[in-house]
Amino acid sequence: MHDDRRLIEGRLRRTLQRIEGAVWSAPVPVDLGRWDAPGEPVPVEEGLAAPYAAAQVNDRWGPPWGTTWWRVRATVPDTHAGRPVDLRLDLGFDPLRTGFHVEGLVYRADGTPVKGLNPRNQWVRVTDEAKGGEEVELFVESASNPLLLGGGGFDFTPSPLGEKETAGSEPLYSVVRAELAVFEQEVWELQQDLEVLGQLASELPGSDPRQWQLLRAIDRAFDVLDTSDISGSASAARAQLAGVLADPARASAHRISAVGHAHIDSAWLWPVRETVRKVARTSSNVLALMDEHPELVYAMSSAQQFAWLRDHRPEVWAGVVERVREGRFVPVGGMWVESDTNMPGGEALARQLNHGKRFFLDEFGIETREVWLPDSFGYTAALPQLIALSASQWFLTQKISWNTTNRFPHHSFRWEGLDGTRIFTHFPPADTYGSEVSGAEVAHAARNFSDKGDVTRSLLPFGWGDGGGGPTREMLARAARLKDLDGSARVEIERPDAFFEQAQAEYPHAPVWVGELYLEMHRGTYTSQAKTKQGNRRSEHLLREAELWASTATVRTGAAYPLEELDRIWKVVLLQQFHDILPGSSIGWVHREAVANYEAVAGELTAIIEGAQAALAGDGDVDVAFNASPHPRGGVAALGGGPRAADLAEVEVAAEGDGWVLSNGLVRAVVDARGLLTSVVDTTTGREALAPGAAGNLLQLHPDTPVDFDAWDVDAYYRRTWTDLTDASSLSAVDGGVRVVRHFGESTVTQLVTLTPGEARVDVDTEVDWREREKILKAGFDLDVTTERSTAEVQFGHVQRPTHTNTSWDAAKFEICAHRWVHVGEPGYGAAVVNDSTYGHDVTRRDRDGGGTTTQVRLSLLRAPQSPDPVADLGVHRLRYAVVPGAGIADAIREGYRINLPLRTVPGSGAVVEPLVTVSEGSAVVEAVKLADDGSGDVVVRLYESLGSRSSATVLAGFEFGGVEAVDLLERPLPTPGVEAVDGGVGLALRPFQVVTLRFTR
Ligand SMILES: [Zn+2]
Repeated sequence: MHDDRRLIEGRLRRTLQRIEGAVWSAPVPVDLGRWDAPGEPVPVEEGLAAPYAAAQVNDRWGPPWGTTWWRVRATVPDTHAGRPVDLRLDLGFDPLRTGFHVEGLVYRADGTPVKGLNPRNQWVRVTDEAKGGEEVELFVESASNPLLLGGGGFDFTPSPLGEKETAGSEPLYSVVRAELAVFEQEVWELQQDLEVLGQLASELPGSDPRQWQLLRAIDRAFDVLDTSDISGSASAARAQLAGVLADPARASAHRISAVGHAHIDSAWLWPVRETVRKVARTSSNVLALMDEHPELVYAMSSAQQFAWLRDHRPEVWAGVVERVREGRFVPVGGMWVESDTNMPGGEALARQLNHGKRFFLDEFGIETREVWLPDSFGYTAALPQLIALSASQWFLTQKISWNTTNRFPHHSFRWEGLDGTRIFTHFPPADTYGSEVSGAEVAHAARNFSDKGDVTRSLLPFGWGDGGGGPTREMLARAARLKDLDGSARVEIERPDAFFEQAQAEYPHAPVWVGELYLEMHRGTYTSQAKTKQGNRRSEHLLREAELWASTATVRTGAAYPLEELDRIWKVVLLQQFHDILPGSSIGWVHREAVANYEAVAGELTAIIEGAQAALAGDGDVDVAFNASPHPRGGVAALGGGPRAADLAEVEVAAEGDGWVLSNGLVRAVVDARGLLTSVVDTTTGREALAPGAAGNLLQLHPDTPVDFDAWDVDAYYRRTWTDLTDASSLSAVDGGVRVVRHFGESTVTQLVTLTPGEARVDVDTEVDWREREKILKAGFDLDVTTERSTAEVQFGHVQRPTHTNTSWDAAKFEICAHRWVHVGEPGYGAAVVNDSTYGHDVTRRDRDGGGTTTQVRLSLLRAPQSPDPVADLGVHRLRYAVVPGAGIADAIREGYRINLPLRTVPGSGAVVEPLVTVSEGSAVVEAVKLADDGSGDVVVRLYESLGSRSSATVLAGFEFGGVEAVDLLERPLPTPGVEAVDGGVGLALRPFQVVTLRFTR
């Protein structure tokens, strides 16, 4: 037989174009009205009642970020009687830009939603069987969102479109089509048959007879298809395909659990307010599709997005609630939002799970069991324990497939976290969270699945994300045809929990991956949009203080506990941790709002803290210092208040040569004429922390021009070019230290290098007027320490990463995320660098003349990427960090808390404020003290083992309590070995990095 494969493939491509043009027939124009809402979106009632003006096809409409309401009126012609009729409305959709530009939501005149309109979903069913003469009236709320990052593939040219003020007012779109037309069901079915079979054929190897059987069947179908009468001949063509469509899948076929989904970023290239509408449009689409397709199962994550529906689109919410109860609209994820997991603090990550799961329990009585984070930029080693403590069992992501260096070895595995907790984890091998159920994706999933010799199934999330509308009827048609089809993986639409149960059951000895899931990409997200990072860090610590002091005030004085206020503020902070907000990868609008939210939250929390402390301090004008940190400080007990110790040695600042010597009896530091630290010695060890001839607090400026994803990525070559900022334009002694001013480029940096009485570290308080673009500013400390690994704080513990580049896995970690501290050490000696606003770091090693190794620890202070926000990070920033010489890990932990939780001093009676809880000396650290979420007034205390060692602790309550027990993150009883009641409190036997939550009933 002749090899005419290319000819058949070409015939398929061309004929599908002809078939596409025949899916609708007999179009008649509709009467179109239009109203451009001035400014921001308006309530639905207002849009429906608006004064509509006449509009036509080809009208230009839609300035960036505008809202236009359309009114469609039509009469179904008698010629359409007996046929299904659709409204086809093309507002300027580009199918290549689905989710990134025009979207609409269709309403009936009574305000009930019908479905969304999207580039891949431009139709609305008017009637399944026309009688002729029906009057049609529909309304569409459409959003003219501008296209950022280009279309099709991404481009990262700076764009003014990400802020309303700079986006201009030129209309972006034109109406392309507005008509009623007959939907030709059989033509559409033929189109689906051909697409599935053609795509399958192209994925099969030429050695497989099945490929040829499919091509020949397609060829025969075209022989009987009359392209001048496609609707009249579609059934005959389909008959030629029926045989190959009925051939069952092979026994060895991979099994795919397909889950309807739409990955809707809670903010990104659009502001939060637009996500509220995106969620409504996509959910409406899903509800409409469910009416026609009982097999559809749709998983939606993020309690926040459900809450938006409930609060802003009750008409959509009602439909969602009904389908949730049926088990088809499935809440997943158990988190408030799909958060970043590198940067949120331990308590915040616990609250993501607490608020997410609590919402689903309160609204639906559903205990979600899987954590669903397909798109966040790497996953902390703390997560497995927190997943387990939130009473979830499984974890899903696919983002690690984005690694640019190393291929992750598993798709189904057990992920072991910091404390040894193992969570069954799955990476969908299709490498996407928005599949179209295409032949290529299904075949790639089967081929790519690393565990295919041992197990048989994987998960496939399908549907257009980001407002693209979610699953479509075409995707369902493909899934139906791929259910049991020779040559293909088997595709079954299932709930995620059904997949996880089966996948875990067939893989009881799944391989184990230990430690963090580091994403070898997007390393710039630890640093971009510094004010967003700082806002997160400050908010987390203010929340700690507010809960601690408000609880203490309630228990001690009977003051009311601001339960609802704290609940609301937590949700604001949790939303900002979404995986394009906290990472700094959104447009300027989003970050401007995030900073404003943080400012508002800071004001509210400060008021709560000050109110509680005033109540606790009592009357008088004697200073009472409050210590919110988990360690005693300046004579004040951990978590308590009282007078500060008065006998601390003063800081001495003495000129020496061209520089200055600072000392406080605990640390002696030298600042040279360049304003650099040239010596840092702690009096306990007497050892020099800085490497010979090297400097501390050296600012270094690098070009920062990643290949792609400007706000997301810092590429390894940045390291090879830099400028040391060693010229000081002024140097002067100030109280406690030295003030250094430097000018570079267009920017100015002013630093106070100081010591504090009674504290064993050198503080650097930095104010930068940052006017660079596409640069990264690092602050480095060259330490006289030899070590193969650095230790960085993460949530409820710490992780180690290599300081060398032995393997590709080591080399890929050239930028790392740390919370409040990074430590490097060798037996008997170490040093820490702590910070109050910074997450990005790098730690490297170099040899030196005369032998020895210098370990350089650097903080990534600022970047200035230009896409998607062209003015990211420009402006004035104030950041603090410090070097702690002679520090062990315990010292690093203590100083990390201290720099983030300064003592607060208020006037009062001068009496001691007893802490609510006292923890025996050791490695157990209190992370939160709060009152219970249920309003019972019970005191909840969360603590963790901080050193990675087995240890014991006694937690004593400083108040009357009825009983005490261990609880989960939702504050429900959780039988926990090693937790035993003792007189006045509880005794704990902790495993390394164990998190325990205690609930004291009152
Ligand atoms: Zn995302």
